[in-house]
Amino acid sequence: MPTHEQKSAQRAATLAIADGVLVRPRTCANRKYKILPFSCYGWCSRIQPHHEDYSRPLDVVWLCTSCHRRLHMQHRKEARKRQDAANVNQLRRYVESGDLSVDIISREADTPRGTIYNWLDGISIISPLASPRVDMFLRRAKRLAQVHAAERAQSLADGR
Ligand SMILES: [Zn+2]
Ligand SMILES: [Zn+2]
Repeated sequence: MPTHEQKSAQRAATLAIADGVLVRPRTCANRKYKILPFSCYGWCSRIQPHHEDYSRPLDVVWLCTSCHRRLHMQHRKEARKRQDAANVNQLRRYVESGDLSVDIISREADTPRGTIYNWLDGISIISPLASPRVDMFLRRAKRLAQVHAAERAQSLADGR
């Protein structure tokens, strides 16, 4: 899903190509300079401008469709990995602070406790976002943690 910044950078690059400010080369930059961690297998029939930084719309790397697609796939994978790590850290904070117990997470996310312990230990091969139930749970986990923290504070105030 292209963001607004992405779209306007692409539009600026397209205009610059039409105006002759940017010149589309005949060869994929990855084929020529081996700038990516994978080889170029593209036919280089269509070379596309790729932005590393959308705030610099005329600063482009020219890639064949194949390399371009692969590069974005890799970026998405890395973003997903970062998101998963952030989610696991979030769960860990909830559990360590006592705001949410593993039991509550297990019940609310409809996920076996063993799986949750594996996530917390960082040994799960399944990403936390791989399950739509867990994804849904993570969206409302903050609110849930607030409710449980408030309940806990209340029971402490009541002297249990
Ligand atoms: Zn290529
Ligand atoms: Zn790109």
